[in-house]
Amino acid sequence: MTNPPPHQDQFLNILSRDAAEAAFLSALQPQPLGHEPVALAGLPGRVLAQDIAAPVDAPPFDRATVDGFAIRSADLSEASEAEPVTLRLNPETIACGTAPALTVAPGTATTIATGGPLPRGADAVVMIEHTEPEGDGIAVSRALAPGSHISFAGSDIARGQTLLRKGTLIGAREVAMLAAVGLAFAPVWRRPRVAVLSTGDELVQPGQPLPPAGVYDSNGPVIVAALRENGCEAVHLGAVADDAAALSEAVRAAFASHDALILSGGTSKGAGDLTTKVIAGLGAPGIIAHGVALKPGKPLCLAVCDGKPVVVLPGFPTSAMFTFHELVAPALRAMAGLPLRGTARVAATLPLRLTSELGRTEFAMVALTEGPEGLVAHPVGKGSGAVTAFAQADGFVTIPALTDTIAPGTSAEVTLFGPHVTPPGLAIIGSHCTGLDAVVGRLSERGISARILATGSQGGLAALHRRECDIAPIHLLHAESGTYNAPFLSEGMRLIPGWRRMQGLLFRKGDARFEGRDLGQALAALLADPQAIMVNRNQGSGTRVLLDRLLNGTRPQGYWNQPASHNAVATAIAQNRADWGMAIRPVAQALGLGFLPVADEHYDFAVWETPRNPATIAAFEAALSESAGALAQIGFER
Ligand code: AMP
Ligand code: MG
Repeated sequence: MTNPPPHQDQFLNILSRDAAEAAFLSALQPQPLGHEPVALAGLPGRVLAQDIAAPVDAPPFDRATVDGFAIRSADLSEASEAEPVTLRLNPETIACGTAPALTVAPGTATTIATGGPLPRGADAVVMIEHTEPEGDGIAVSRALAPGSHISFAGSDIARGQTLLRKGTLIGAREVAMLAAVGLAFAPVWRRPRVAVLSTGDELVQPGQPLPPAGVYDSNGPVIVAALRENGCEAVHLGAVADDAAALSEAVRAAFASHDALILSGGTSKGAGDLTTKVIAGLGAPGIIAHGVALKPGKPLCLAVCDGKPVVVLPGFPTSAMFTFHELVAPALRAMAGLPLRGTARVAATLPLRLTSELGRTEFAMVALTEGPEGLVAHPVGKGSGAVTAFAQADGFVTIPALTDTIAPGTSAEVTLFGPHVTPPGLAIIGSHCTGLDAVVGRLSERGISARILATGSQGGLAALHRRECDIAPIHLLHAESGTYNAPFLSEGMRLIPGWRRMQGLLFRKGDARFEGRDLGQALAALLADPQAIMVNRNQGSGTRVLLDRLLNGTRPQGYWNQPASHNAVATAIAQNRADWGMAIRPVAQALGLGFLPVADEHYDFAVWETPRNPATIAAFEAALSESAGALAQIGFER
């Protein structure tokens, strides 16, 4: 199909975040959709639709809480070590589930097990340990208060008492309470049934081979998972091509048979606004907001059609997630009977200055670590639309439209992507090296989860200095002394020796500017060739320092392309987007690239001499030693 011409005035009326939310909620008036009885096994995760009153007492009768004898406390009022009182045993034994038949008359006792119902006449239970057999009876050598070792009927839950309140999210504890009073079912809100539809000619379902220029449909599965986490039943209907007729048919069918509809994609200018046109005619009042002052997330479209929410999330996976959590999830939660806002928010300190555009609500993905004063939110994957950025991120921070900068050290609210936050046992921030994976793998076998944030050596040292990470991997050459790393440590830090790795120039095999040449000749040939494109590294990385020394002030074509990892450099060269760059030898080998050695550098780990958690650092050092073989295999020497 041919794309309609892009029109510049696509978003005629851009609403602020707050205005869009208010208009959407007021048009939708989200309410629970009625209730249904659900059996105990199906209750976890559901929301109670009515208060539950206990229909019976629990326990249902007075019962013994120890193994021993049911007695009359008055019989024992004179009992002592010196003068034990002897009681005759009645001819019955009350086990759990035995209804007592005989009365405990004065001067008698009845054998009773824990949980057994108290017989008539008895008002206390004496523990078997406090008695001695005596003829065909027992001798008791201590007095007992009435009520001793008895749990009375209704003392846990009294009949008629409100057991659980409407709106309670049911978990194992609530199921236990319902079962204890004999309830096999409970009334819970019906879960909204939400249809999820991805749009785009390029989309391929996971599990299928990826053709050139194909993109896996990640939005569909992610939205389904997020819907379930927010109390909905989600149905993924797959992806529809960017074709007005096909899309219209799929949307109408999905709309008719569901309580809500969530589409993604087809909202950017290039697509000519296809999805929005399709939903415009679904029902009244229709589109409430199209274009919201969010970054990212501007193309968001919110509609209410015949009382049902219909939403088009932006195609970019991260934008889709931000806008879902920020503006869509609350409405759906209300329909599911859950509180508007989930509890999945935490406060965390921002370690770095965060800047944002005035006039737009901006989202920044963050990864959480434990700092000296609680959680720290490190911005990650800024500007990346990639869903893989979620691998590092725990959630996101929302920067209000009227804020343009947030100072370092400010506390911010983090909206979590999942219901739980688990800061890593070990936070590793600094220079990225593929060898680290082997060590972290060993650590996880020891039950320690580690998170690696690639910021470059200098960023890592700064984070370590603020005690926002446990370990900073670094490889920094000190020009004056010609040594690595140690000169960059602050007072109170030490180095755990890591490994050596050969840095060098990467090129595609057969490139005449490299083959058969030494480093100096190759570099001269590259810098003399106006067609040659390089790929640089991010500021603050040790590789960048090395490259800048090599370039000695020149800025070849490609200098401003500055990815943050060795793999990104190698991939750019392998895919012919660049001709040369600097990375470590194993990465070159993995992609079959040529390699000209530049420097054998030291990759070490900076830590505090008095770390937050010494045992974890010790485990890291042990994992490091154990990894020597694995590291050697991929080209790193300890
Ligand atoms: P669109 O809004 O359709 O122009 O999409 C914007 C970007 O998001 C494009 O790069 C799409 O390939 C990508 N995208 C759209 N839908 C999805 C999806 N379901 N999963 C992953 N990426 C998507
Ligand atoms: Mg698309």
